[in-house]
Order: sequence, then structure tokens, then C-alpha cells
Amino acid sequence: GKGAAMVTAVAYRLAKQHAERQQVLDTLRLSREQLMEVKRRMEVQMKRGLALDTHDSASVRMLPTYVRATPDGTEHGDFLALDLGGTNFRVLMVRVRSGKRRSVEMHNKIYTISQDVMQGTGEELFDHIVHCIADFLEYMGMKGASLPLGFTFSFPCHQAGLNKGILLKWTKGFKASGCEGEDVAVLLSDAIHRMEEFDLDVVAVVNDTVGTMMSCAYEDPQCEVGLIVGTGTNACYMEEMRNVELVEGNEGLMCVNMEWGAFGDGGELDDICTEFDCAVDENSTNPGKQRFEKMISGMYLGEIVRNVLLDFTAKGLLFRGKLSERLKTRGIFETKFLSQIESDRLALRQVRSILQHLGLTSSTCDDSILVKEVCSVVSQRAAQLCGAALAAVVDKIRQNRNLNSLSISVGVDGTLYKLHPHFSSILQETLRDLAPQCNVTLLQSEDGSGKGAALITAVACRMRDA
Ligand code: BGC
Ligand code: MG
Repeated sequence: GKGAAMVTAVAYRLAKQHAERQQVLDTLRLSREQLMEVKRRMEVQMKRGLALDTHDSASVRMLPTYVRATPDGTEHGDFLALDLGGTNFRVLMVRVRSGKRRSVEMHNKIYTISQDVMQGTGEELFDHIVHCIADFLEYMGMKGASLPLGFTFSFPCHQAGLNKGILLKWTKGFKASGCEGEDVAVLLSDAIHRMEEFDLDVVAVVNDTVGTMMSCAYEDPQCEVGLIVGTGTNACYMEEMRNVELVEGNEGLMCVNMEWGAFGDGGELDDICTEFDCAVDENSTNPGKQRFEKMISGMYLGEIVRNVLLDFTAKGLLFRGKLSERLKTRGIFETKFLSQIESDRLALRQVRSILQHLGLTSSTCDDSILVKEVCSVVSQRAAQLCGAALAAVVDKIRQNRNLNSLSISVGVDGTLYKLHPHFSSILQETLRDLAPQCNVTLLQSEDGSGKGAALITAVACRMRDA
């Protein structure tokens, strides 16, 4: 009868909507073949970045760091460290002890860097940083102390030595003027001199990946890779000097800051990028740049999700087709919400209450299920891409050493990696699949970038004073 026909019509419409949604989500799902291809392309760019004649046109810059060894436990002394470029800006005092009392003791204070300061002038930014250092020294009761300083500066820098770092390009929403092309150690020293209150010796400019690797290597000598999956993403590892063509010499190893976030900037990811990735890129402070990072890291995942939700809503597949102002607002999905929504311990009504908290009030129970699915598709892709890239790294190290199998540890830090309920297991699974000859242990770093910067500074001071 008529009733049955209506039921059929409703069932048909629901099935069609379901298919429509899945079709969109499928563009965000990667096959094993696609992931293997990502790994292969990453290998190509790594080699191009290392070689002198292709370095300038490689999307992955493979920047030498002048860090030639992981810690050996003889490091010691008191150091200041700065950590700029992650979720928080921090100033740290680090005491490193060697010998029987081998340990690292740290005190730190978190400061905020407002959007205005991030996007104002370089002078303002560095004056602000120096003010924070002054405040910290006062807080520690160390006013006037002059300690060697390790500067963890988590942006791509061309280094001509450990204590030099020319900023190539801002990333992650920073765009203070007058810094690109300048040595950030000099910008910092200049700001210190402007203030005329204390003097500090900038001994090392350190990428956060390198700090993370070093701090994990302090506990585990098998750690020769550093990985960050936080606001941004990047990795470093110990490469053979003979392959680091930008630096003279063939003996031993040097840590290379890959700057893998820029993978894809030469079109390497065009065939897997979706319309949502393009939208996120176009609305960023650096369109066309850091394309890989924009598919993986915390600053962007929520934006990808939001763009998918916008699309679903516009097509009448979500939120009863009502586009709220809230949903049109950039940045509403922070990493912590994604992580909460995807937590297995969370009941659907809690997902709904998170959405309500975000101001997405018109959601139904089905909406909650769908939002959760979108989040998990987007974060799964991120973890798989990260795994494919890391597979390229560990396999390169294995091949460098002519080994059939390699056991290696990776020091990992970053808010997304630490907060997300599934990221690390998907990453591990992808690695097992794409680099079967490598046995990889992922080590979570505690306070890696600050501690690592201090360890690097300690080694530099020892060598300088020797
Ligand atoms: C920067 C890297 C950094 C990474 C993680 C990227 O945007 O270019 O230098 O290591 O973020 O913080
Ligand atoms: Mg950090």
C-alpha cells in the first residue's frame, strides 16, 4: 500500500545519502598502493634534497644541523633553553649532570605569543621573547646570570654552523616581518643588546625534531630519528656524512632536518589531495607551501574536518542542511576536540555535547556518528601518511648501512601524537606494513625540545672549551 511505498522511498533516500557521504569520504581514504607510492616519492625527494645539484629544487630540504653525534652521557652544565614554534612558547633552565649522578633537571615557564606578535614585526617578536627571558631569570632568582643558551626554533633554517640559523620561511601561522633570510641567533642577540639588561651566548640553534631525537637518545642509544606531530610536522635522522653533500667531509654522521612538511610543494601529492585539502591550503597564511604538513598536523586536521562538514551540510547530508555561522568559523576544531571525539571511551551523547560546546547545536544522534567518522577518516589518513614518510626514513638508514634488518628507535613529540587516541597505533601499523625490514620502536619524548637543546648546547660548550 501507500505506507509501504513511503517506507521504501525513505529507505531509498537514506541509502542514497549514505552512498553520497561515503563517496566523499573515499577521496580521503588511501589504498596500500597509494601509501607505498608516497613512501617511494619521499625517498626520491630525500635523495634530491641531499645532493648538491638537486638540493635547491627538492621539496624536502634535508637541512644539515651540525649535530654529529647523539649524547654519550658526559654532557654537563647549566643552560638556558628557548622553545619557540610549537603550541607553547617556553623558557627553560636545564641542569645536566654527568657521571654517577647523570640526570637532567628542568625548570620552565610557559609564555603566550599573541597572534599580533606572531604576525607583527620581527623586532617586536624578538623583543617579546627577550622580555620573557628577563621575566624568567627574575622568577628563577637568576637575574644577571649569563648562561649558554640553546634556541629551539621550530622552523626551516639554513644552518652554516651549530650557532647559526637563517630562517628560510615561516610556517604554522607565524609571519613576523623582516625575519626570513635573517640569522635568528643574530635577531635574538640584537634584541638582547637592545634591552641592555643581561647578556647571553646563543650557542646552538636547534630544530624541535633534533631536540626530541637528542633527548630520547640520552635514554636510548638506538634512537637516531626525531619526529614531531604537533602544530606542525617534521622529522630528522642521522645520515651518513658522505651523503650530506652540502657539508664538507665524508666521515661519520650528521643529523639532517628533513623539513618534510614541505613534501608535496613540488606537486608530489597532487593526485591524492582532495578539494578539502585545497580549501585548507588556500585559506592558510602560506598557500602552496607545507602541503604535506597541512594533511597531517594539528593546526590543519580540524580545518580539513570542518571543510568536509561544510560540504556535507551544504548538500543536506548533515545538521539538517543548516549552515551555522559557527561551522563557517575557521579554527573551531582544535586538536583536543578531535582527540576527544575519537576517543573510544566516549558515548555518542558525549560527542554530541562536544559539538554543542562548539556551538553546533542542531546536531542529531546520526550527525554525531557522522562527525566521528569524518574525524577518524581524516586522522587515519594523517597517521598513514606520516607512517609512509617515516617508512622511507628508516629504510634509508637501513640501506645506508647495507643491512637486511634494522632495529631503530624514533623519539616522538607533539600534541597531536600525544593526545590522539589512535594516531600512534595507526602510525606503527603502517610502518610495519611499509618498512617490514625495520623494527621500529616509537619513544614518546618528555619535554624533548628543551632538554635536547640543552644537551646539544652542552656538547658544543665542551668542544669549544676543549
Ligand atoms: C617546521 C619544522 C618543525 C615542524 C614541527 C614545521 O612547520 O617547518 O621546522 O620541525 O613544524 O614543529
Ligand atoms: Mg614543540
